Amino acid sequence: MVFQDFGLDQAIIQGIEAQDYQEPTPIQKQAIPVLLKGRDLVGCAQTGTGKTAAFAIPILQNLLKEDRQGNQEDKKQVRALVLAPTRELAIQIGEQFEHYGAHLDMKVGVIFGGVTPKRHIKVLKREPEILVATPGRLVDLVQQGFVKLERVGIFVLDEADQMLDVGMIKQVKTVIAQLPKKRQNILFSATMPKEVTKLAHTLLKNPVQVEA
Ligand code: AMP
Repeated sequence: MVFQDFGLDQAIIQGIEAQDYQEPTPIQKQAIPVLLKGRDLVGCAQTGTGKTAAFAIPILQNLLKEDRQGNQEDKKQVRALVLAPTRELAIQIGEQFEHYGAHLDMKVGVIFGGVTPKRHIKVLKREPEILVATPGRLVDLVQQGFVKLERVGIFVLDEADQMLDVGMIKQVKTVIAQLPKKRQNILFSATMPKEVTKLAHTLLKNPVQVEA
């Protein structure tokens, strides 16, 4: 199987080809078709399995499809939101979106704690459609009115088990409460402790389960 088999737009294929991947990884083979259909998904996968591309590629394709259907106003709003537990992971996810979306008109923003909020306000002024964030900093910026989440149609919780470990769950729930009801939800976790299963149950609607 090759990436072309997913029916992706040629511009996205070009972005993937620049990465020199020979073929989709097992998690990508399972997750990409499901996510392209707009279904919710719960994935059990560690870093190194290609899990980021497993959600980033179909998100880009789904947003591109929406663009073609023509609501240009929404291009100024966050339409896909990814929450990640650490600054390093958020940056890596942002980079992968940039790679696969290199030939698309799709802006990606990354925000995380530990740096001055000023820098992020600048990021947000560029009006990214895809926002990758750590929960705490996102909650602050939402509360200060710098980010609006009412147009988020795709929500990803990455490394959910790491978020429970560092007690971020309250912030995650604050973010989820701000999202529109009608949306696609994706949860990835390396392990599935009881708390993650519980969270998956409240977050996801009739999800497909995949495992690396
Ligand atoms: P991740 O599991 O998302 O942290 O990805 C781990 C690494 O695998 C990243 O450096 C990706 O660039 C790379 N990767 C993602 N998909 C593939 C693929 N299909 N073939 C080879 N490498 C990949």
